[in-house]
Amino acid sequence: MSDWADALPAVRGKIVKQAELAPFTWFRVGGPADVLFLPEDEADLATFLKGLDPAVPVTPIGVGSNLLVRDGGLEGVVVRLGRNFAQIVTDDWGLTAGAAALDAQVAKVAARAGLAGLEFYAGIPGTVGGAVTMNAGCYGRETKDALLSARIMDRSGNVVTLSNAELQFAYRHSILQEKNWIVLGAAYELQEGNDPSEVIARIEEITAKRETSQPIREKTGGSTFKNPEGHSAWKLVDEAGWRGKFFGGAKFSELHSNFMINADNATAADLEGLGDTVRAEVKDKFGIDLHWEIKRIGRK
Ligand SMILES: Cc1cc2nc3c(=O)[nH]c(=O)nc-3n(C[C@H](O)[C@H](O)[C@H](O)COP(=O)(O)OP(=O)(O)OC[C@H]3O[C@@H](n4cnc5c(N)ncnc54)[C@H](O)[C@@H]3O)c2cc1C
Repeated sequence: MSDWADALPAVRGKIVKQAELAPFTWFRVGGPADVLFLPEDEADLATFLKGLDPAVPVTPIGVGSNLLVRDGGLEGVVVRLGRNFAQIVTDDWGLTAGAAALDAQVAKVAARAGLAGLEFYAGIPGTVGGAVTMNAGCYGRETKDALLSARIMDRSGNVVTLSNAELQFAYRHSILQEKNWIVLGAAYELQEGNDPSEVIARIEEITAKRETSQPIREKTGGSTFKNPEGHSAWKLVDEAGWRGKFFGGAKFSELHSNFMINADNATAADLEGLGDTVRAEVKDKFGIDLHWEIKRIGRK
């Protein structure tokens, strides 16, 4: 870390140098961030970004449910949005939610207001910021199917609203993955006038399904690989012989063989090594390329 970290802008939020990131990720692995910034509010975040050396990389994180932070830690600044970025407001056309709002909470608030269309968010253990960036989805629906627009802050601290089309959504992808802009919040168009108890019943169905089909109480990062066209990633991992087999302290879950698990004090290198080994074997045996869905960030 060089001089930039000694000349950080004055802010109202919290700045932590050499901040451990493992506790902020589901895998519970990885080295420290040079700097972790927890902004107080949007104005605080803008002040920070405007005053920060433009050459310093900035990485926003949510609750780390799709992140593998490497053991060498992360260069630059990690931004984590807190309570003041988590408001959820319903309207008759849909709702707006702050980037730090949990998807499951958004699903619940929508349901209680009789708004349908975001029930699938009950199955995704991340934040709105992560969901927009990843175009998160399950059970046949994706974020792009309900999203109207997202408010983002660019690296210079300017706020812009991007439409659904401008976000260029694709399978588990949006333009934000290339830009590293920070999502501040999102607006979703939903179907009004539903019986709340019916919407809540669909949420309960999704929650129950997840309990039996995914290792949701383990240290995991969700689906490791994207499903290749015409194939299921879990089947390829299984057929390559890697369901439940250890690589260091890491393995693919017996319950869902596309979910990697930190099963026994794994390092990030164990987890990434396992994933890359399986990718190579699947390519070798079946001629199919598996692409990482989990975001791997930081120094090896
Ligand atoms: C048990 C389990 C089940 C899962 N099931 C599903 C599923 O069914 N469907 C699915 O799609 N995913 C699933 N996931 C993966 C994960 O929950 C989603 O990708 C989620 O959207 C990530 O949100 P997050 O807040 O945890 O983001 P993080 O993991 O913290 O970050 C993910 C990416 O989003 C970026 N990001 C986060 N917040 C912001 C922000 N405010 N602004 C800009 N960029 C940001 C990060 O830089 C990173 O590139 C699952 C994960 C787990 C652990």
